[in-house]
Amino acid sequence: MKLTILGSGTSHGVPVIGCACPVCISPDSRDRRMRCSLYIEGPAGERAVIDTGPEFRLQALKAGMERLDAVFLTHAHADHIHGLDDIRPLSREKPIPVYGNGPVIAEFRKRFAYIFRITQTGGGKPRIATCIADGPVRLGSLVFTPLPVKHGTLDILGWKIEQESAPEVSAVYLTDTSFIGGETMGIIGRPDLLIIGALRGRPHETHFTFGEALETAAGTGTPRAFLTHICHEHSHRQIEEYCRSFVEKNAPGLKAGPAWDGLGLTL
Ligand SMILES: [Zn+2]
Ligand SMILES: [Zn+2]
Ligand SMILES: [Zn+2]
Repeated sequence: MKLTILGSGTSHGVPVIGCACPVCISPDSRDRRMRCSLYIEGPAGERAVIDTGPEFRLQALKAGMERLDAVFLTHAHADHIHGLDDIRPLSREKPIPVYGNGPVIAEFRKRFAYIFRITQTGGGKPRIATCIADGPVRLGSLVFTPLPVKHGTLDILGWKIEQESAPEVSAVYLTDTSFIGGETMGIIGRPDLLIIGALRGRPHETHFTFGEALETAAGTGTPRAFLTHICHEHSHRQIEEYCRSFVEKNAPGLKAGPAWDGLGLTL
């Protein structure tokens, strides 16, 4: 399978509107971060995304997305779902299933109430089918397993992605996470690739710091980790340096660094 980081920025995106800090005016293209999303391309042509943030349309065009079979949601914060209307051209042939946990689907249906009203005429609406994911979801040869984690006090989902033809290979996507319980760590196991939210160096109530995310990665035994959902307090180069020194001291053997928009990963 192929995974593409469509966006790697925190809720306001980077650059931040009205900010002229060194990162927001950086000439390094990896310091320009759209809102978080992951594109998954399976070996049998399966196409899915995790989250549809406000830049979904721009991200889909950039990734050359021509079809979409499913949307997997982590949670209902604006930076993760408000681009959903733009899946419309991809939903002409068939309704697209949108998976999330119970509270997220309930909130999602409120935010996008017009989609479920039969009376609206004109303007167009995406064709979707909301589904509560309380166990693994099969999509062609791919299996998406929900991973319950905490985002502050909110119960949200990460997703584990496996491929039927290579069951020993797995990728895990966790964003907006501040706590992972033992049961979920058990399901995560030792992934071949971990993409994990890490807001900044300083502590935050509802997000892992770089250090907490890297400790979590090291705890899983994964050989490869990428940080995502990054704010404007540190440049790509500074985070690379932070990861290099963390790994040297605490997790030799782990390959870890900040993700960037457009990063493609093959498993
Ligand atoms: Zn977020
Ligand atoms: Zn800034
Ligand atoms: Zn959030």
